[in-house]
Amino acid sequence: MMQMPLMISSLLVHAARHNGDIEIVSKRVEGDIHRYTYRDAELRARKLAQALARLGCEEGDRVGTLAWNGYRHFEIYYGTSGSGLVCHTINPRLFPEQIAWIINDAEDRVLCFDLTFLPLVEKLAPQLRTVQHYVLMTDRAHMPAQTSLPDLKCYDELVEAENGDYAWPQFDENTASSICYTSGTTGNPKGAVYSHRSTVLHAYASALPDAMACGGADVILPVVPMFHVNAWGIPYSAALVGAKLVFPGPHLDGKSLYELFETEKVTFSAGVPTVWLGLLTYVKENKLTFSTFKRTVIGGSACPPAMIRTLEDDYGVNVIHAWGMTELSPLGTLSKLKSKHANLPREEQRRILEKQGKVIYGIDMEITDDNGNALPWDGKASGNLVVRGHWVIDRYFRSDSSPLQNGWFPTGDVATIDPDGYMQITDRSKDVIKSGGEWISSIDLENIAMAHPAVHEAAAIACRHPKWDERPLLVVVRKPGQEVTREELLKFYEGKIAKWQIPDDVVFVDEIPHTATGKMQKLKLREQFANYKLP
Ligand code: ADP
Repeated sequence: MMQMPLMISSLLVHAARHNGDIEIVSKRVEGDIHRYTYRDAELRARKLAQALARLGCEEGDRVGTLAWNGYRHFEIYYGTSGSGLVCHTINPRLFPEQIAWIINDAEDRVLCFDLTFLPLVEKLAPQLRTVQHYVLMTDRAHMPAQTSLPDLKCYDELVEAENGDYAWPQFDENTASSICYTSGTTGNPKGAVYSHRSTVLHAYASALPDAMACGGADVILPVVPMFHVNAWGIPYSAALVGAKLVFPGPHLDGKSLYELFETEKVTFSAGVPTVWLGLLTYVKENKLTFSTFKRTVIGGSACPPAMIRTLEDDYGVNVIHAWGMTELSPLGTLSKLKSKHANLPREEQRRILEKQGKVIYGIDMEITDDNGNALPWDGKASGNLVVRGHWVIDRYFRSDSSPLQNGWFPTGDVATIDPDGYMQITDRSKDVIKSGGEWISSIDLENIAMAHPAVHEAAAIACRHPKWDERPLLVVVRKPGQEVTREELLKFYEGKIAKWQIPDDVVFVDEIPHTATGKMQKLKLREQFANYKLP
């Protein structure tokens, strides 16, 4: 057989050759809508590669981005990796000190950023030790009259100055293509480095019917940011299948998203559960429906079954619950039925689909006890989830020690696996509530609370208890204008869960803190309620 390295550039070259007129539509930071095609994107990515070389970038150099989902960010994905550079997407929602730390750790040589982040970058610049070129991702008309940044460059000018006479280089497919840092809930963030090979294989696998099921007939709007694990690989898998792409830019509120879904006829989307909270509230308040939106992947944290139900029953949107992590590029498992489930009553099918799902080929998983022994796949035994596969890291950036245990990557998640291979996350090991030696799943408690019509968001956390060590406390944000009491909520648990697992108390708050990737920040909540006296 022919030997052809799996190059990221080949995804875009394929899209330009075979789906050249398919559109990429972006709602820009500048406020307007930008449209062009895969053919245009590929040409501009080549010009960008030329421009970066002209700035002095050499193979392996890191190019940082602080940017929303948009066509220029898409061009940077391909222009950097495609030319042998490493695309370093940075999460702008992290604390400024963390952002500076990450840029210095990665030794970014160029930093590209959207207009939104100009004040942030001006503030950070004095701390950035390796950045030689600052590039503002906009056109000449939007360049600031004044800035403290030395020799600030205009992205569009850099690209437009080149002729595009550039052939994508072919090199070892194991070369680093991009780097993404974990959000560092414990200690400093850690870099996960992806390769051309791992990225292309992940793109193949994630487009499969039992994964995201993407095809050329799709119009895909990734709500999940391109700074969060490469928007779950969508910029690659969309090019692979030739799907139309719609980028929302910074406009992620319910109204803006809804309008984009409708005007661009979006069929498929992906995001963390909190995004859908906003969109669903807007759609409900305004009594709207979706005319083309049919499918979405929800993951990043547990998708409450009540949300799956609302999307399906009220809006006809099929939810694919997925699990993954930065260290996995990120896809690991997705929930889809097997042929043997076809005739099950809908409620039973739903119980299967609420789990985090089956692994895709390319990933394998196991659950183990604390001594590393494999636990049975009976849907009951819960243990440490470990994984391995083509797109799982085997070490962190700049680290000599391997995180692997007997060749498996420990995810830090606690899960069950049923006889059919469906995995269900019961907790993150650090979030699990240990009551009298027994484990209570915080996710189970949250899912039940989320099914109550007056609950907008709920977090279950462990509180110190003199007798049981830890007992569950439920922290709740009510829906606007809705009332529910502590007693009503606790009663709502009866019959749905063992009595001893019912939370001891409920506190109502205005807001639950979220991490930079939109997950509930339970560590913060635990600190906030560290001295809380349970009744
Ligand atoms: P970080 O670890 O920095 O928060 P990741 O996006 O890598 O960022 O998070 C991965 C973790 O998110 C997983 O280890 C798991 O705990 C959680 N997670 C992801 N998807 C799901 C899901 N569908 N259900 C429950 N937890 C999930």
